[in-house]
Amino acid sequence: METADTICAISTPPGEGGIGIIRISGPKAHILLQKIFHPASKREIYQPRTLYLGNIIDKDEKREVDEVFMVLLKAPKTYTREDMAEIYSHGGFVTQQSILSLLIKYGSRLAEPGEFTKRAFLNGRIDLLQAESVLDIIQSETNEELKCALEHLEGKLSLKINEIKDDIKQILAETEALIDFPEEEIDVDQEQYRATLRSVHKGIERLIKSYFEGKAIHHGLEALIIGRTNVGKSSLLNALLLKEKAIVTPLPGTTRDLIEDTIHIRGIKVKIVDTAGLRIPKDVVEQEGIDRVKSKIPRADLIIWVLDGSAVYTTEDEDIFRSIEGTNILVAINKIDLPQKLDNTIITSRRVDFFEISALMGSGLEELKDGIYRKLMGKRGKRAGLLITNIRHRELLQKAFDALGRAINCQKREEPLEFMAFELREALFHLGEITGETCPEEILHDIFSRFCIGK
Ligand code: GDP
Repeated sequence: METADTICAISTPPGEGGIGIIRISGPKAHILLQKIFHPASKREIYQPRTLYLGNIIDKDEKREVDEVFMVLLKAPKTYTREDMAEIYSHGGFVTQQSILSLLIKYGSRLAEPGEFTKRAFLNGRIDLLQAESVLDIIQSETNEELKCALEHLEGKLSLKINEIKDDIKQILAETEALIDFPEEEIDVDQEQYRATLRSVHKGIERLIKSYFEGKAIHHGLEALIIGRTNVGKSSLLNALLLKEKAIVTPLPGTTRDLIEDTIHIRGIKVKIVDTAGLRIPKDVVEQEGIDRVKSKIPRADLIIWVLDGSAVYTTEDEDIFRSIEGTNILVAINKIDLPQKLDNTIITSRRVDFFEISALMGSGLEELKDGIYRKLMGKRGKRAGLLITNIRHRELLQKAFDALGRAINCQKREEPLEFMAFELREALFHLGEITGETCPEEILHDIFSRFCIGK
């Protein structure tokens, strides 16, 4: 696809820096650059992919803007598959803005967010899924997240989706042949046909199921710290975060609202939320806090139930247990640095894992973190295979999965083949939306507008 205009942008973050990188892409990229760049050593011809030292000169103002390096990159072997150029200037705001202004003056246009990557997609260098992974790479917070995003950029997930699509296309071709030539003897192995359909269905299901782990890596999971007042919930949050985030006071009922922060446990982002103590509220504000906690309990990925080891088990503790019973619970028996009064058999009889800790002294926290990880990720110690990390992909896979399920039912009920072909096409359409083949313009706009300018 030919893109008529030439775009430019500062690709490094705003603010002062050692160097700033300005990128240009489009048919006029090389001509434009040669208009403003004056090489340190005289030359007529520039070789692509070679770094040249020189100056950026504003001819109209007759002034030197900056001393820079520049490189020309020749289409199609570039990020956008168009002619590109890059300028490595000094990293000051004024310098970079002046160079950008000159490029615009000579006929370039300021790039929109993500427009370089959008061009790479529109020109067929990467598919939409890979383009989205570029953003994931930039926004990665953990090594695991980065690893997933890189796998997606390399095209491993795209390959898998394309394999699934090829299998469906094969089944569709056979179905259409049967529809078009009902009189002819078409040799279709019915058993094989059914088996392929089922295996494709299963393959999509596996990808959908991988989203839980993918989500854990990409977006994080949520653990609620619950317990009666003064057992040490805020202290635990602070100890896990290693900073004073929640206010710790010896007065019961100080944490009135939800305080949260994210920690990384073995590559998984865990949002830990410290909650107001669940007790009979003294005022409306406290009631509001308690209501918010209660509404969060069923949706949380894990409940960390904190008990005070230096106190006896109370009816209030029991009421709290009742409100969290049936959820994914892990117990932290706190204050083990003090003489213990809590009867641990109460906990063991409830068949929940417990850890003895001292939030104040910092003991038992590593074991607790391991426990949090195990409780969140189950037995999935090491991840296997490809992971879906993007909700858009998950939803489209679900639609494809449902359509294939309907196709399987059509076959079972021996319904007209046209119905089955319709469902197969539907599944293909949704899979095509993942890789961008059949993606509406609004979705493309929505995806690329999340990028930064210059990427
Ligand atoms: P919350 O109401 O459950 O959030 O409890 P806080 O974290 O505010 O703690 C209540 C009191 O218990 C504070 O005085 C803390 O210093 C104290 N505390 C918290 N954890 C420990 C611990 O592990 N050992 C001891 N000895 N005191 C603790």
